[in-house]
Amino acid sequence: MRITKGIAVSPGVSIAPAFIFIDDSAEIPQYHITVADVQGEMDRFREASLLAKKEIEALRDHAKKEAGEEQAAIFDAHLMMLDDPELLEQIEFSLNDNLFNVESAIFSFETEMVDKLSSSADPLIQERVSDVHDVVRRILGHLIKKERISLSDIQTEIILVAKDLLPSDMVGMSRSMVRGIVTESGGRTSHAAILARAFEIPAVLGVGPDFVDQVKPGQALYVDGEKGIVAVDPDDVFIQREKAARLARVQWEKENKELREVFAQTKDGTRISLVANIEMPDEVANVVEYGAEGIGLFRSEFLFLGGHVPGEEEQCKEYTRVVQAMQGKPVIIRTLDIGGDKVLPELGAIGEKNPLLGWRAIRFCLEKTELFKTQLRAILRASIHGKVKIMFPMISTIDELIRAQGLLAEAKWECKAHGHRIDPNIETGIMIEVPSAAICADVLSRSCDFFSIGTNDLSQYTLAVDRGNQKVAYLNEPYNMAVLRLIRMTIGYGEHAHIGVSLCGEMAADPASAVLLVGMGLRTLSMSALAIPAIKRTLMSVTLEEATALAQQALSMHTSSQISALLTSKLNL
Ligand code: PEP
Ligand code: MG
Repeated sequence: MRITKGIAVSPGVSIAPAFIFIDDSAEIPQYHITVADVQGEMDRFREASLLAKKEIEALRDHAKKEAGEEQAAIFDAHLMMLDDPELLEQIEFSLNDNLFNVESAIFSFETEMVDKLSSSADPLIQERVSDVHDVVRRILGHLIKKERISLSDIQTEIILVAKDLLPSDMVGMSRSMVRGIVTESGGRTSHAAILARAFEIPAVLGVGPDFVDQVKPGQALYVDGEKGIVAVDPDDVFIQREKAARLARVQWEKENKELREVFAQTKDGTRISLVANIEMPDEVANVVEYGAEGIGLFRSEFLFLGGHVPGEEEQCKEYTRVVQAMQGKPVIIRTLDIGGDKVLPELGAIGEKNPLLGWRAIRFCLEKTELFKTQLRAILRASIHGKVKIMFPMISTIDELIRAQGLLAEAKWECKAHGHRIDPNIETGIMIEVPSAAICADVLSRSCDFFSIGTNDLSQYTLAVDRGNQKVAYLNEPYNMAVLRLIRMTIGYGEHAHIGVSLCGEMAADPASAVLLVGMGLRTLSMSALAIPAIKRTLMSVTLEEATALAQQALSMHTSSQISALLTSKLNL
């Protein structure tokens, strides 16, 4: 048995065989050829295309039988692309012109097509990008002769092991089969961690390099997402631990059911609103199950990471589903926060040197205005089914906020022009997750109705620490004084402007931090639904006076460890 330690990011314990996920999309061989090799390379291309064609035809027939003509039409489009003589001509031209192998000619073709399609103003043309990716990956799969691993195809219970996992990998995976996750990189606030918690899958991230190479497919793995422990070939002690954890979980669920009916409040009766973060609409069942009073953050971009760009109707349907399930309780839908680690090649967000400092979130939407307004119209239309609010991510200047509000006004007009009913007084808010926004929150407060503090990014940008890089995860301290000052500043500006301030970063889901934040003045905390019962219990054990005194003391301290020690000693956690 071998034990490895990593960062505990999603609670729970499980044992299952390892499934090694290696994304081979980046590994496209590239080598020089001579003119004499061109015909041989073309033959390879024809052969791989033929195999891809057979595969697509089978998929089309299956789709027609299972899902109907409309779904099958996607594959017809793929077949048309494969049969297009221009594709053959372009590959031949590229082989002769560049004298590189056929895999790299196909890769160049893909890049060129993606650039061309994604720069189109027509969303229908933009949507074709995913078709190009699909067809190209299929041909490359046959050329490179590697099986295309898809996380949606997993049929038995496994522990997913990977170097890194992108949110888009996780969105499509077959969740009920993934009993645990272990990755070499990643941190507590990386999106893989957030999704693991949302899907209630025990996860240990950041176990360090080489783990993937040391585990064989099918080897038994024990994952403890609370202690951050991974055991390869676990012995009897670990097997017993897993059994005990399963029993404890049943008891925990029973106790939480009782707590669901109780409102969150401090010992002396100050009401605190505990709302939930969700990524996918089907998480709304958990939101209700764990007794959230609303949705404080719907990360809408996850609807876009499933392989295609949803149009207005589809988005409207998904938002409405969530809003209706919440039965009048508030639902804050954050507009598309794409970019950074949430990569969407279909939309052309590719190839940046510093994606986290690049074309992300509102910056992307202010350029792709049709896509942005499509989403805004979908949200506006869903707003008549309950209490919806719109939130803009990554606002870093007042200009951005004003432009976003301008596009929202246009979207409202467009809805009206098409005869759609909307909530005309829908509230709009912004994420405070870039230091410049916290510093200028007094000015920003004049152009929006609420703030939601995003400590995941606020810490990342304040401390210059990539939230997904385990090498520097130690710098991402829970109570860094600079971050605390920015939080306090935001709360102060919000109070002064009489607008609502809440916090939806992962910090809200930590019991000790929740007390600190309430002591600093927050009355609404948004977190993964799973965390709500524990936070409720902790808040019920302190008075507001105690929390305020603790916060005052904490804010006078200079190091995270001092604050940690203070909270642990005073809170009995
Ligand atoms: C944050 O940055 O704190 C946040 C809540 O947004 P996300 O984690 O989606 O970046
Ligand atoms: Mg963020």
